[in-house]
Amino acid sequence: MTRSDTLSSLDPRSPLVLDIHELSRRPGSSRTVSRSVMAPADLGIEVLTVPQGDPVDLELRLESVLEGVLVTGTARARTVGECARCLRDLEDVLEVDLQELYAYPESDAESDEAGRVEDGAIDLEPLLRDAVVLALPFRPLCTEDCPGLCPTCGARLADEPGHAHDEVPDPRWAALAGLLPGGDQHDDMQDETRPGRPPGPTEE
Ligand SMILES: [Zn+2]
Ligand SMILES: [Zn+2]
Repeated sequence: MTRSDTLSSLDPRSPLVLDIHELSRRPGSSRTVSRSVMAPADLGIEVLTVPQGDPVDLELRLESVLEGVLVTGTARARTVGECARCLRDLEDVLEVDLQELYAYPESDAESDEAGRVEDGAIDLEPLLRDAVVLALPFRPLCTEDCPGLCPTCGARLADEPGHAHDEVPDPRWAALAGLLPGGDQHDDMQDETRPGRPPGPTEE
């Protein structure tokens, strides 16, 4: 095995690099691939991701066409994140469709977008990343009508349907109170004796 002198940029050890030597180049030839690979890092978007190392189940069909190899199929994986409104943990199963033409090196197909067959292999990672990112909701929610958090105290409103405050503080004062040490307490006079509280800004 001395393929290291090739110019290929694909890492044959990557679980998402698929060796296609066995696929005949005769147009119409096809092969199915069913495999489970470990999710690469940062697969997803900031608020919703496939955990790194989690299994990604691939069901693929590879078909020889004139210009290269057409890959179609699906990828299935678990996603985790949090609700954009109430921050509740979210877990779901995502299934995305995959489709990409990997052009042969000598093909003059547009190389910007299309994948490439390199040294008898194709890299599924960019295809998988694009499909997952496109399929994920920009603002994931636990339920369509999630009421979010109470703006006054941060309580999760879905858990407390009747949630209300006796008197709604002026939001301008609430913002100021948050800047003062102990400002969220009512017994301001006792600040110095409260245990475990760091010294106020006037003390050095
Ligand atoms: Zn929610
Ligand atoms: Zn509240």
